[in-house]
Amino acid sequence: MIKTSLIVVGLALAIVFPFVVTSPYYQHLVITIAIFSILLLGLDIVFGYTGEVSIGHSALFGIGAYVAGCLVHHKLLIVQPFGGSLDFLIAIVLGTVIAAVFGALLALPALRVTGPYLAMVTLAFGTIIQILINETTELTNGPLGITMQKPLFIDLRPYADTFPFLKMSVKAMKELEFYFICLAALVLTIIGVNRLLASHYGRAFEALRDAPIASDCMGVSVYKHKVLAFVASAGMAGLAGALFTFSEQYIAPNNFSFDLAIQFLLAVTMGGRKSRLGPILGAVIIVFLPNLLADIALFRQIALAIAVVAVLSGGYALMQKPEDPWSIIVPVALCIAFYAFSLFLQKITDYKLTVFGLMILFVVYYLPDGIVGFLKKVVSSFAPNLVRTHAVIDTKGDEAHIWAATAPKAAATGEALLDVKAALMQFGGLKALDNVDLVVKPGTIHGLIGPNGSGKSTMMNVLTGIYVPTGGDFRFDGSSISGLKSPEIAAKGIARTFQNVQLFSELTVIENVMVGLHHTYRSGIPAVALGLPSAKREEQAARVRAASILGFVGLAHLANEEARNLPYGKQRLLEIGRALALDPKLLLLDEPAAGLTAPDIKDLMEIIRKIKAHGITLILIEHHMDVVMSVCDQVTVLDFGQKIAEGPPAAVQANPRVIEAYLGGSATTEPAH
Ligand code: ADP
Ligand code: MG
Repeated sequence: MIKTSLIVVGLALAIVFPFVVTSPYYQHLVITIAIFSILLLGLDIVFGYTGEVSIGHSALFGIGAYVAGCLVHHKLLIVQPFGGSLDFLIAIVLGTVIAAVFGALLALPALRVTGPYLAMVTLAFGTIIQILINETTELTNGPLGITMQKPLFIDLRPYADTFPFLKMSVKAMKELEFYFICLAALVLTIIGVNRLLASHYGRAFEALRDAPIASDCMGVSVYKHKVLAFVASAGMAGLAGALFTFSEQYIAPNNFSFDLAIQFLLAVTMGGRKSRLGPILGAVIIVFLPNLLADIALFRQIALAIAVVAVLSGGYALMQKPEDPWSIIVPVALCIAFYAFSLFLQKITDYKLTVFGLMILFVVYYLPDGIVGFLKKVVSSFAPNLVRTHAVIDTKGDEAHIWAATAPKAAATGEALLDVKAALMQFGGLKALDNVDLVVKPGTIHGLIGPNGSGKSTMMNVLTGIYVPTGGDFRFDGSSISGLKSPEIAAKGIARTFQNVQLFSELTVIENVMVGLHHTYRSGIPAVALGLPSAKREEQAARVRAASILGFVGLAHLANEEARNLPYGKQRLLEIGRALALDPKLLLLDEPAAGLTAPDIKDLMEIIRKIKAHGITLILIEHHMDVVMSVCDQVTVLDFGQKIAEGPPAAVQANPRVIEAYLGGSATTEPAH
């Protein structure tokens, strides 16, 4: 409610602004803020959500700008109806699309490998683009830059008799119209980004950052979604660039330097990642900082304001949490010192970089979540319910919507569902799996047991594509899965849980399950951003199904809790729920009872039986022998990577080799974490 009213007030102010403040200078500042906001909202998707660093957004911005600039410079836009509106539209659409294509060309190879490769590739890209713009004089007019005119979309001056506020020069009218174009572009961008981040894509972006391996195993390819995020972000940088060209009416290569890319990253960090307001605040900072650092009186006032806010909020924080006073006193003292420093400064221009550096250090140390993150913390200490990072999903589930699994082909033909031949997994000299055969019949629960370090988890990791096996033949439901990657294996119908729980800890319980349901969505990014009815229907269906699954694993009452706040036993149940969302034919459970209390274990066994009753085959790694004995149809025993016994549970339990492995190897039957 409060949020909605704030948005309405903000929008109303933005609409009234150009009629109240008629100075073209200030109008231009606000236009620039809107343009940078569009770029930074896009950068936040990559930097804030997927956690990748791009130092190439200044270059993507430049590409958008130069696409528009070159079209005009080479007089390629010759359609002139509607006072050049069509030209303008073509220029910004092409700017967006071409920047997105460049984004794809960068991200596809760079994100294949994990690590800081995207940062390095985008850094190189930024340098190359700037040199290219400088050198390809034929195309870009080189260092001289490109000059152009803002379009006059509709000439409203004839109506000035009826509406006196329209009495203005052509130039002012162009500026006014352009102001509203940029405002509209920003509002549409915010709506689109909001929709995107609230959709299955947004959940995927957050999930892959929290737990990339689990994300891949839920069929949500980390690689694919990082590329998608980057391409969307690049498109937004291109849109901002094209608007920038028309806004400035002059562009030159040094508008798009490396410095700007760094400023973009800082703006998102300072404003606050993973929010809409943060990037907009960041844009305000970038635009005002040069002005601020040119006017010593203004600078002192702002420094004073910061010091006052710091003293007030610090005092309040001290009263709330007096345990650790230094963590509050130091930043407050720094803010006061900063004000003192501003009084001491005479010629501020000499200290521009120093001030900038100090601000960065302060933000990184004391405001890691940026200004918006800080404000959220303050507000939530007054009113905890006002600030929610995740939407509350209040959907009822029912029995009918839990299952959608298609029966495996193997069930009809009577073949094995999983047929592993001579699996070999070597880590250096260690054979974690040494020629293990494993045949799992459809519709059964297959136990996989053995002392710690015998290779059980390794088998699951090999089966789900996390490890590439050294050798062996792997067939699942009639086709080979050798060499497939985790998301492809997940798509074939193998789901899993992890020995060390790997939830998407910052997502809510129901959102965790909805990441598992990612495969049920068909809508692409455009459909989601436009809010098409088909996309909404899919989302609603997924919510009902997720709520149903939560009911099944007994977590319905915790649906909107963040996963990391659940007790350990519930986290394990949630992992099973999330795996069920994948519609698996085969479900791999790696020590699901580890760390559970006795009543929880009973619930778990009940759940496992019900899963089997619905035709899903299971492989169960478990140390609790009573669980294995009571639910498994068949048991395979591993020791030092080799299969030492196989058969019905009772026979295996009586096998002398098994007894020796357990007693002679590691005496403990407690699970290792
Ligand atoms: P468990 O049966 O307890 O699940 P694991 O499959 O986790 O056993 O481990 C089997 C053996 O493989 C252990 O000796 C372990 O140290 C080794 N191992 C597992 N993963 C790796 C890895 N990524 N790198 C090196 N050694 C590994
Ligand atoms: Mg293990």
